[in-house]
Amino acid sequence: MSFLNFHTHCPLPEGEATLPAFGLHPWYLTEAWEDDLQTLFPPSGIFLVGECGLDRLCQTPYARQLAAFEAQIRVSEQRALPLIIHCVHAVDDILRLKRSTQQPWIIHGFRGKPQQMQQLLLHGFYLSFGFLHHVGSLRACPPNRLFLETDDTAKPIASLYTMVAAHRQTTPDLLNRQCWDNAAALGFTSTLLNNCDSF
Ligand SMILES: [Zn+2]
Repeated sequence: MSFLNFHTHCPLPEGEATLPAFGLHPWYLTEAWEDDLQTLFPPSGIFLVGECGLDRLCQTPYARQLAAFEAQIRVSEQRALPLIIHCVHAVDDILRLKRSTQQPWIIHGFRGKPQQMQQLLLHGFYLSFGFLHHVGSLRACPPNRLFLETDDTAKPIASLYTMVAAHRQTTPDLLNRQCWDNAAALGFTSTLLNNCDSF
């Protein structure tokens, strides 16, 4: 079974699989983001919308970020696709916007403390952890809400599975199975995986 790498921007090494996603990242939103969304968004062959989201520390005007995020929330709801989220100092807005939605939302690269994690879990969020994480949160995250990812790091995900399995007193294989089960709970099937090109 391939290791599930929930979110990566790098070419996948042998033995890893990811879930096809498409979205406009808050760092790279141009003034023409609405046209980009219209013209770039593929009509099929994706499983997740994103990564998209909100980042109070980046240069993109926050109002533009909010508008683009809300537009992608609408795509996620209309097409019944889960949403993968980039969130930097914007949890309040993320929680507020989540309230009126149905689709699962996954915070990627989660580095928050356990208290913040509990708040997100209460609202139904999934959390995807990378090499940089808060160990207390990683240990306390319920197995059925957890994913692992390398994001823009070129390291193999197997090393992250090994590290996280040690923290959670399990094995890399069992952890990987759990992550695939979680992908299945989001509606992802192996048939879909075989039919899609991964971004
Ligand atoms: Zn990313």
